Amino acid sequence: MAPQRSAPLNKTVHPLLGAHVSTAGGMDKAITRAREIGANAMQIFVKNNMQWFAPAPLGESDIRAFHEHSERGEIHSVFGHSGYMINLAAANPEFLEKSRRALAEELLRADQLRLPFLVLHPGAHLGAGVEAGLEKVVESLDAVASLIPQVSAKVALETTAGQGTCLGCEFEQLAFILNHVREPERLCVCIDTAHLFASGYDIATEAGAKAVFARFDRIVGLKHLAALHLNDSKTALGSRVDRHEHIGQGKIGIEAFRYVMNAPRLRKIPKVLETPKGIEMAGDVENLALLRSIIQQSRQGKIPRV
Ligand SMILES: [Zn+2]
Ligand SMILES: [Zn+2]
Repeated sequence: MAPQRSAPLNKTVHPLLGAHVSTAGGMDKAITRAREIGANAMQIFVKNNMQWFAPAPLGESDIRAFHEHSERGEIHSVFGHSGYMINLAAANPEFLEKSRRALAEELLRADQLRLPFLVLHPGAHLGAGVEAGLEKVVESLDAVASLIPQVSAKVALETTAGQGTCLGCEFEQLAFILNHVREPERLCVCIDTAHLFASGYDIATEAGAKAVFARFDRIVGLKHLAALHLNDSKTALGSRVDRHEHIGQGKIGIEAFRYVMNAPRLRKIPKVLETPKGIEMAGDVENLALLRSIIQQSRQGKIPRV
């Protein structure tokens, strides 16, 4: 049966702006939390992110509670983030097999919740080298795709900070994966601003941000961009250390976000925070207010072009 929607999903309001929200107490509770902070976009984990597998499949009632939540229609973009145990470049055969099975399970859950994609950190090569690692990721993505041919939720490869041996910190690495999997149409990309900066892409000025996104477009293609994680960075440019900070209070600063919030080609891309939440999500409320305020300022002045 079709749920009653207070706002039809086809009347999408831009910007699509929100945060990663907790599903504690049930998948549907995430919608309540997202609305509490005034979000119309949200990211969720589809199961406990620190465990390999969910203790049980999603039940019919959980799925229905999610789809029929009275405010579901207010959230115009909902997508998932995969668990942290998954490493598609793992050398250990047991971990590799578990990683592939875990991702397949999560994509299935994403499909049940009708999420268009699941954000994934490509993997860590653990000393095998970047090239060998990327080849393993490609093999793994092909293996996962063949485990779940019927699933339509895509994998959104996320740009990473390049911490340790993590893959995905250079646009060329994401392009390699996109260009080598059997079914590239099952992939898309998520850009995290803190990760970009930590991995050495200087987005701190408007000119810098513009150049970095132009480079992304050349190497990966903006047409593949499905989501943005908006985080400032506690760590310096090129530090390769992943520590998120409140918007405008980190080493990146507000100009990068002014660019991202106003660039016409990024306008329809859902944008979610992964910044410290504080008490009762006050951190999210403040960061979202700040992001909205810089859109208004730009409308009165110049609007940068990608
Ligand atoms: Zn992220
Ligand atoms: Zn991060």
